[in-house]
Amino acid sequence: MPTYKAPVDDVMFLLGDVFHIDRYNNLPGFAEATPDLIEAVLGEAAKFCEDVLTPLNRVGDKEGCRRHDDGSVTTPTGFKDAYRRLVEGGWIGASAPVEFGGQGLPRVLSQAIGEFLVSANMAFAMYPGLAQGAAAAIFAHGSAEQKALYLPKLISGQWAGTMNLTEPQCGTDLGLTRTRAAAQPDGSYKITGTKIFISAGEHDLTENIIHLVLARIEGAPAGTKGISLFIVPKFLPTKDGARGARNAVSCGSIEEKMGIHGNSTCVMNYDGATGWLVAEQNRGLQAMFTMMNEARLGVGVQGLALSEVAYQNAAAYAKERLAGRALTGAKFKDKPADPIIVHPDVRRMLMEIRAFNEAARALVLWTALKSDVAHRSGDAKERQAADDHMGLMTPVIKGVITDKGFANTVTAQQVFGGHGYIAEHGMEQFVRDARIAMIYEGANGIQALDLVGRKLPKDGGRALQAFFAEVSAYIKDHGADAALSPYVKPLGQALGELQQATMWFMQNALGNPDNAGAGSTDYMHLFGLVALGYMWCLIAEAANAKSAAGNGASDRMAAKLATGRFFAERMLPASALHLARIKAGAASTMALPAEAF
Ligand SMILES: Cc1cc2nc3c(=O)[nH]c(=O)nc-3n(C[C@H](O)[C@H](O)[C@H](O)COP(=O)(O)OP(=O)(O)OC[C@H]3O[C@@H](n4cnc5c(N)ncnc54)[C@H](O)[C@@H]3O)c2cc1C
Repeated sequence: MPTYKAPVDDVMFLLGDVFHIDRYNNLPGFAEATPDLIEAVLGEAAKFCEDVLTPLNRVGDKEGCRRHDDGSVTTPTGFKDAYRRLVEGGWIGASAPVEFGGQGLPRVLSQAIGEFLVSANMAFAMYPGLAQGAAAAIFAHGSAEQKALYLPKLISGQWAGTMNLTEPQCGTDLGLTRTRAAAQPDGSYKITGTKIFISAGEHDLTENIIHLVLARIEGAPAGTKGISLFIVPKFLPTKDGARGARNAVSCGSIEEKMGIHGNSTCVMNYDGATGWLVAEQNRGLQAMFTMMNEARLGVGVQGLALSEVAYQNAAAYAKERLAGRALTGAKFKDKPADPIIVHPDVRRMLMEIRAFNEAARALVLWTALKSDVAHRSGDAKERQAADDHMGLMTPVIKGVITDKGFANTVTAQQVFGGHGYIAEHGMEQFVRDARIAMIYEGANGIQALDLVGRKLPKDGGRALQAFFAEVSAYIKDHGADAALSPYVKPLGQALGELQQATMWFMQNALGNPDNAGAGSTDYMHLFGLVALGYMWCLIAEAANAKSAAGNGASDRMAAKLATGRFFAERMLPASALHLARIKAGAASTMALPAEAF
């Protein structure tokens, strides 16, 4: 059975020593979040995740969800009770607005807790995660009446939520949406159509489920300009917010799938179901996309979370499993063989995952802090800069962390040898669960195109220039610092390559857009390396300062510095490979005619 220990210490180090969260005390909700309170909240969340959710992870995988003849769905044994405890703990609305019953804590804190929840039990964590997504959409675009009716119950967890975009003929290209909405005299709409692959579409955890559905109002323009967003509750709420009549929406079936078995992935049938428009007619996609940054950040965290729990188990196994002797001579002469952790190739696997996870966690928390600034700052310029950062970093976090997170679960499985392939150890479940994060919420190829095609040129390249300026200034200011140069110098090299790649696109993609399309995934990963390399510089700087202060954290900080060095020496140089591929252009990628495949 796999185990999990939430990385509370690492989050505290990142928030306190690396990102100096106290500097954000001017933002609403931050001054109240003292270090003691943050540590207490993280500690409680960790306990819940370790003691309640982790043991249910295997149960959920084995049992899956069951659909009954009446269309109802039962979640795996123990999920209902765990969900009740999650609600009682107030975890779902930890950083939701106080006016709707949330606790108003910084988002960065709920993002950290989000990692713990997913590491412990990804399938379970998706139920509250989707409710948070639905609440965010209603908060950003709903009318005052809709907010008052739905938000308190979504935020408390009394009701759950879903996002209904995908249909059999379209996932990426939502312009092909066929679900119809017919206007009714009372201002409501009748929604008719079929949505597929809807996570948490039906379940027994809550008394009501609020579906957010994309549909086309009769007579609307074709393509993406004719899509609107609707609230379609499973039970129609009465005016005073109680659960009313059953709506004409039902779960037709649940999918059999590779992983996240504890989460119900549903075909949802809308048979003239009553719904209400959110935001303006035909602006449904825009409404969905304004909350995509948050949702995609959440999926990026899934990649990190599974990489972390897989790492923890692989590291523990490597210290126990005996095989062969160290190349430099036996280390445990009293034992019949040395534990495999003595072997450099096993170390390579563990270090690759660890060096990625620690920087990815920093990147996620740094960006979550920007989200707090974008939503809470009173200064319009600050808000804009933070929003620029979020827009630029979202496809990088979603695409890079889920690609690498999945790869890391495979690497961690490799550490177990054949035992990793056997279900008993739980490693193959991490691989299966992690895989979906590369696909949903915009497949990773689409993230790369979003980065290259939309985010780079947006506002004349303002966000990109700001990022380049920040990293360049850091390199300039710290390059001469002997203690930091092992981290800063390789970052300078990688940044130069990223700038060359950007220039190459400017010169070669306008004339032939395939050059951008063929290089976009490499560009996204090159960008990710630079962003993670920058995180390692900030971490190393904080670790040096903390070691110098001599407050008893020196072993942990020495480990940080060594791990960051591994990243700088052995992972960051992949930037040159990405640049070479980008510069090769699209010619060989596109050379074959379609019939040749
Ligand atoms: C377990 C699970 C849970 C899900 N949960 C939800 C949910 O809750 N709500 C919801 O609405 N949907 C959900 N989805 C659907 C998911 O978001 C889609 O499957 C995903 O967006 C991809 O769409 P698609 O499957 O139609 O693939 P397609 O759009 O057919 O894409 C196929 C491949 O082609 C590539 N591609 C497509 N267009 C382009 C292009 N223009 N340029 C380059 N490459 C391109 C894609 O990157 C992908 O690799 C879920 C799916 C699964 C499997």
